Amino acid sequence: MARYTGPSCRLCRAEGTKLFLKGERCYTGKCPIAKKASPPGKDPRYRQRKVSDYGLQLREKQKLKRMYGMLEKQFKIFFDEADRLPGKTGENLLTMLERRLDNTVYRMHFASSRKQARQIVSHGHVRVNGKRVTIPSFIVKQDDVVEVKEQSRKLHTIKESLKEYSKSGVSPWLQLDPDSMKGTIKAYPRKADVSDLAEINEQLIVELYSR
Ligand code: SF4
Repeated sequence: MARYTGPSCRLCRAEGTKLFLKGERCYTGKCPIAKKASPPGKDPRYRQRKVSDYGLQLREKQKLKRMYGMLEKQFKIFFDEADRLPGKTGENLLTMLERRLDNTVYRMHFASSRKQARQIVSHGHVRVNGKRVTIPSFIVKQDDVVEVKEQSRKLHTIKESLKEYSKSGVSPWLQLDPDSMKGTIKAYPRKADVSDLAEINEQLIVELYSR
């Protein structure tokens, strides 16, 4: 499946906001957005353009897609499912995106970015409730147990990423035992639990798909 393989920070600069694509670096002063980097390209009209309502809605969708590394078709499937669930569609969408297995693996610090988490999952290093799952878009449920399979626990990338747990812990919707590399989904994530999503206006995405 075609995916963007260029520099991650370029995507953030294009959107003018942090998309948190490089793990810990995104929370440091090394982040180009923190240093107020300009958008890529040199055309001065880029900054003067007046953005329409449609343009704003489109950009908001683009931000979320890029943040979770998704293409349009799969993102729309997630949106339609969020729309079918009871409650507010926008909030359901954010909850579903956070419950993706690749994101969960990232949040448990088994990977240092969602991109790396996607690889770890698709290469078969992760089990859910004791069963090997290789689909990054797999949606975890409450009480599911996500773990690194025993043979993969010595992998350098996973051990390095897990060092972050001692600094920042895990999101409130998760519980992790770093020694056994095993975590549990305690609850469904809410927007307030995820600081990365604070700048996202999910209602704009709902309006876009309602056109
Ligand atoms: Fe790069 Fe992360 Fe900053 Fe985005 S948020 S510009 S990926 S360091």
